[in-house]
Amino acid sequence: MQFSIPEVLQILSTEVAGYAVPIVDLIAVQTNDPYKILVATILSARTKDETTATAAARLFKEAPNLAALAEISEERLAKLIFPVGFYKNKAGFLARLPGVLASEFDNRIPDEVESLTRLPGVGRKTANLVVAVAFKKPAICVDTHVHRIMNIWGYVKTKSPLETEMALREKLPPQYWLTINSTLVAFGQGTCKPVAPHCDRCVIAKYCPQIGVRPRKMPSISKKTNGEAAMRKFVSWNVNGLRAVEKKGFAEILADLNADLVALQEIKALPEQLSESIKNIPGYTAYWFSAQKKGYAGVATYSKEQPLSVIYGIDHKDHDYEGRVLTLEFGDFFFVNAYFPNAQHGLLRMDYKLQFNNDLLAFAQTLAAKKSVVICGDFNVAHKEIDLTNPKQNEKNPGYAPEERAWMDQFLGAGFVDTFRMFNQEPGQYTWWSYRFNARARNIGWRIDYFCVDQASKKRVAEAAILSDIMGSDHCPILLGFR
Ligand code: SF4
Repeated sequence: MQFSIPEVLQILSTEVAGYAVPIVDLIAVQTNDPYKILVATILSARTKDETTATAAARLFKEAPNLAALAEISEERLAKLIFPVGFYKNKAGFLARLPGVLASEFDNRIPDEVESLTRLPGVGRKTANLVVAVAFKKPAICVDTHVHRIMNIWGYVKTKSPLETEMALREKLPPQYWLTINSTLVAFGQGTCKPVAPHCDRCVIAKYCPQIGVRPRKMPSISKKTNGEAAMRKFVSWNVNGLRAVEKKGFAEILADLNADLVALQEIKALPEQLSESIKNIPGYTAYWFSAQKKGYAGVATYSKEQPLSVIYGIDHKDHDYEGRVLTLEFGDFFFVNAYFPNAQHGLLRMDYKLQFNNDLLAFAQTLAAKKSVVICGDFNVAHKEIDLTNPKQNEKNPGYAPEERAWMDQFLGAGFVDTFRMFNQEPGQYTWWSYRFNARARNIGWRIDYFCVDQASKKRVAEAAILSDIMGSDHCPILLGFR
């Protein structure tokens, strides 16, 4: 198959439209401010996008413009931007930036590559990115992803990003100059990864010569006769007490659902407190991770298939004491069952919740570097206005507080996908209703239970639904069809 750059870039532009937007592009769209774009670009070098995003947000709160930046000490800057890569060096660059811009550029961010490279901490790659993103002027920003992928395709044969930039200036049609960086950064982060790229599900695999590539190895999964991978059915349910829901027909509900994996949260029991009929449901093996404190939190997962391994907790004593995360590893995916903390009345437990959230995200990212990740459970947050009946009245309440929703933005921005919203954009779709005020019958509720997958596994999602007819808890189960 001949390699055609217009054809391949056309396919990729559609493909990456659903990927996480690179942070510098995101800041460009949100602010249209050359100062912020320049600073974010400096911060983003050798730093993960999600780290850059939080550091930039902290910094821009105190330094929304050049004049404010000039007032902040280098020491304070280092604190604000920690833990971006080389944060001490970058704090030094940022401390010197206002002075150089004042003395050489009349307090203006220059819009050409040569001038930009005279600024502290700005190399050719950064300068090209600022010219292209902030000023929409023709420039080709060649970072590690662009350099690497262009060589994998055999479109250039070069040894350094600078050589790639020069070769692309000769060869790449100008209409792609502005967008090539954001397209290939997103694609390089989501599919064509530096280590073990996901060639098995790459949309341009048939065009790609895979020069010098060692694709990840995927164990084969069972197939249907029509050649499609068989769909597995997963269910997640906060049962609000497994002993209580047992009395409301849990065993029959499980049999009716006939799911391959069932993740339960808030089981509120140790295994020894449960009946034999709950512990040994025919066809399933149950895995338990109860809280140390009796009658509190805890998760359990029932599986039809024997997992390769089971990970209890996330290696963090505070979270693991509360029995919050249980992971089953299978040949081609991890299944993470999580019960997120409640921020509690008065948001008294917000700090702990955000700590848990961040630790869980780091854990999920480590898993996603190895294979697909399905992460499900009670996230204890309604993400958007559409996800609860009364957003205005709940703006400062646990489950809809700004910090919790911002973390959900961060989680999805890190590349995880809220599978339910892939299929359904309707309001009034809830998974939890208060026991009070006849809320369930009146559908006054919140959508706080989720099935999410890593970005590269989005194509494996066949179906996502809320099973609101199933009673027994103040939450209803949710479902994922996964190939
Ligand atoms: S087939 Fe593999 S190496 Fe080629 S672009 Fe796709 S992910 Fe990258």
